[in-house]
Amino acid sequence: MNCPAPPPATVLVAFGTRPEAIKLAPVIAALERTAGLRCVVVSSGQHAELLAPFVRLFNLRVDHDLQAMRPGQSLNALFARILTDLDPLLEQHKPAAVLVQGDTTTAAAAAVAAFHRGIPVGHVEAGLRTGDLGSPFPEEANRRLIGRLARWHFAATRNHARTLLREGVPRSQVFRTGNPVVDALEWVVARGERSDRLRELLSNTAGLKRVAVTTHRRESFGGRLEANLRVLRRFVERHADTAVIFPVHPNPAVRELANAILGGVDRVHLTDPLDYPDFIGLLSEAWVIASDSGGVQEEAPSLGKPLFVLRESTERPEVLDTGLAKLCPTAEAFADLLDEAYRTDAAAKPTDNPFGDGRAGGRIARLMRRELGRCHTGGRPSPTVGADSRRESATRSAARLAAPTQMGAEATP
Ligand code: UDP
Repeated sequence: MNCPAPPPATVLVAFGTRPEAIKLAPVIAALERTAGLRCVVVSSGQHAELLAPFVRLFNLRVDHDLQAMRPGQSLNALFARILTDLDPLLEQHKPAAVLVQGDTTTAAAAAVAAFHRGIPVGHVEAGLRTGDLGSPFPEEANRRLIGRLARWHFAATRNHARTLLREGVPRSQVFRTGNPVVDALEWVVARGERSDRLRELLSNTAGLKRVAVTTHRRESFGGRLEANLRVLRRFVERHADTAVIFPVHPNPAVRELANAILGGVDRVHLTDPLDYPDFIGLLSEAWVIASDSGGVQEEAPSLGKPLFVLRESTERPEVLDTGLAKLCPTAEAFADLLDEAYRTDAAAKPTDNPFGDGRAGGRIARLMRRELGRCHTGGRPSPTVGADSRRESATRSAARLAAPTQMGAEATP
């Protein structure tokens, strides 16, 4: 006797910032293509200015935009607004699960909202920890909070999965999937699109060693950000065969410092933030990268680029293990390491990306389908902790990357 298929289960995906859009786009694409699941996408609008080009690029269908940002709003006000405004949507859609990513205020508030309504939470990029509750702030607290509330923990690496097990998360709830940022990066690299703006930047710096820079994190403010920018200025002034390209974050504090220290300096190019394909294009054409971003640490290994991590510590020690990245806890350390890279003529080096193999989105969608009982083969999946995703990586088809018209295509059941 044929049983009728159960109705699709609704997965509500919440995001609000640039990195969340990049990392959830492959997951949403895969969920959309997975039979038995229905996806509702909610944006909090936390990065109102930065988000729009990413929503367009990834063709994300935003079902609800909470527009939660207000000028000068405190973290508490933002958290409260998202919590309050998401609640009626949970009531309306009655999702079987809520999916959040990373460690933003949006992710933490959405997880709490779901928890209060008894809706299980899936956490993408689970298990990152610096061990210091105050750094990064408030992200370390957000990710620990989400880690307490989540039912499904999608960890990028073995190390992140182990962290969760050590914290007492049951093994059956931890899945090693890789980080979907690698899916997104491979997708844009294969498309190979570059805007006229990037072409012009590259032609103006042709033949020079390009240092690609991003720095905007709260912990870098104060003396360290300023000192790092001075290191870059001195470096480019001393070496006529180098250039700095710095897409400056819209945060006024960062803009002011960047203009004051680097504005008008020969071979320094300050630009507005770049769209994702251009930014990845810039990293691909860089000699070295200097950044305090989390996402860039996950992207640099795919491009094999030397990276200076402008932070006191990193919750992604795997990037240091590749040998490509160096931690720069102080401006002095950054200056020394940059000089050493120049002296030794540091070069790009192909490396396996420890954060993923470009198939995380499909894995997460398939796990959600099975966990929500929408898998016709039945039964619960065995958790993927310890499974060797490299094995799958080795057999990955090049054709998938050659014609990447749609993200998450391999998730089709
Ligand atoms: N990024 C971008 N354009 C830029 C600068 C960064 O597309 O001009 C991307 C970058 O590739 C990375 C993400 O934005 O994936 C990083 O965002 P952010 O630094 O805001 O957050 P974090 O990674 O530190 O969470």
